[in-house]
Amino acid sequence: MSDCNLFSSVLPGDVDSRRVAIELPDGRTVSYGQLIELSGCMANLLVGRGMRPGDRLAAQVEKSFEALVLYLATVRAGGVYLPLNTAYTPNELQYFLKDAEPTIVVCDPSCRPNFVDMAAELGAVVETLGGDGSGSLSQAATAETSTFGTVGRAPDDLAAVLYTSGTTGRSKGAMLTHGNLISNARTLVESWQLSDRDVLIHMLPIYHTHGLFVASNVTLMAGARMIFRPRFDAGDALALMPRATVLMGVPTFYVRLLKLPGLRAASERIRLFVSGSAPLPAQVHQQWRDETGHSILERYGMTETGMNTSNPYSGERVPGTVGLPLPGVKIRVAHPENGRVLGQNEVGVVEVSGPNVFKGYWRMPEKTASEFREDGFFVTGDLGRIDERGYLHIVGRGKDLIITGGFNVYPKEVEAEIDAIGGVVESAVIGLPHPEFGEGVTAAVVRAPGSLVDEDAILKAVSDRLAKFKQPKRVVFVEALPRNTMGKVQKNLLRENLVGLYGEG
Ligand code: AMP
Repeated sequence: MSDCNLFSSVLPGDVDSRRVAIELPDGRTVSYGQLIELSGCMANLLVGRGMRPGDRLAAQVEKSFEALVLYLATVRAGGVYLPLNTAYTPNELQYFLKDAEPTIVVCDPSCRPNFVDMAAELGAVVETLGGDGSGSLSQAATAETSTFGTVGRAPDDLAAVLYTSGTTGRSKGAMLTHGNLISNARTLVESWQLSDRDVLIHMLPIYHTHGLFVASNVTLMAGARMIFRPRFDAGDALALMPRATVLMGVPTFYVRLLKLPGLRAASERIRLFVSGSAPLPAQVHQQWRDETGHSILERYGMTETGMNTSNPYSGERVPGTVGLPLPGVKIRVAHPENGRVLGQNEVGVVEVSGPNVFKGYWRMPEKTASEFREDGFFVTGDLGRIDERGYLHIVGRGKDLIITGGFNVYPKEVEAEIDAIGGVVESAVIGLPHPEFGEGVTAAVVRAPGSLVDEDAILKAVSDRLAKFKQPKRVVFVEALPRNTMGKVQKNLLRENLVGLYGEG
């Protein structure tokens, strides 16, 4: 059943092989035909390295066009792609690799020493891939033949596992099937009217659902072109706009672009600006409309579900809302404890069902069961309400998640690292409004009597333990943490007291 392999949907055999799929920073272009051939060479190599259908390939690599080929080749060979944030430290990686037990691990050439022992313990093969395409993998792939029979997959077979941040310390691997990814990409191509005339500015990371599945799968499925850049750069994005038709970004992109002159003229040709992964403040939406005449399309999704809702392509895009359920997706708001479905404008937990919803958490059947209702709805943990027109408003997060620059940080993990530092009694980590990052990770720390530990010492201690985006932007010392009668830290009070720390936010 090779027609159910995501690869065949994203790069179908009848695609015009001469069309440009990717434009690289150095001006080179990669056609659809080349993409299919290169993924064939890479798939042959992976199979030669021992990959069988269902095996995991873990990749912690810089964003590059070769990394995208690696993803496509893994899926094509029936493997399960497991991208890892490049910011993860060896300490964090150890957990992911032990949990996922990949057959092949791919890392940056400079990080190879960090991986060798870990991989040896697991019996995994280590290959390298640099941001410039260098390393063992591309070199070996050039010696392979490009002919490769795409491995047949059923809709329910796994295509990828993406780790989410764990609320209870343990990260969970969200299992995404070929069916999940195909259905969500198809829905988005139709809803956002993507076609082979589109040119996307691709500046998102490709270890996350937004850059990998939303931006890449959707663009390729539409036969469109992407201008591929290793990271977001506002000046570069502005310069590219006159040649592009679509930009997909996190709110931080838009906040930074608004600071640049010439935005209106540059954005004239753009057909669609998409924002997601974190709340887009209504005032940013408004300011963008005033400056450019365009209304940003905000959508809502998560690793476990892909995209759930979107403001309409044609129709009103309402600032501060995440729009309407996508075709085929059901959204409801329920009472967080008893699961009773709530009425219009009542705030509760957002629940979702549809072909986009993941298969469960990797090797965590109990956790999986606890996050689904009996009738199959997935409990997202986000708090929201549905208004009289059916638009969903996300009003908060039930799980204390901090979203900084589009990245998720669960406070508990950061607190555990700080609490382990000598001279620290306890800590509470919160997100505070930050003008650039949406939220800034902030630690409130209680010191032991006589302890001289200061902000610098704490930041230094966590710097090689936690990915950069999880490290606090500021550390504030307090006499005691505010607690309620049940002993729970009242983070809302901390937030209120510290709200202006980064300016007006
Ligand atoms: P991730 O799994 O990293 O994609 O993060 C998913 C979480 O990001 C969701 O559960 C929401 O809390 C948040 N999120 C994503 N898109 C939006 C949005 N448009 N508005 C508000 N929160 C969002």
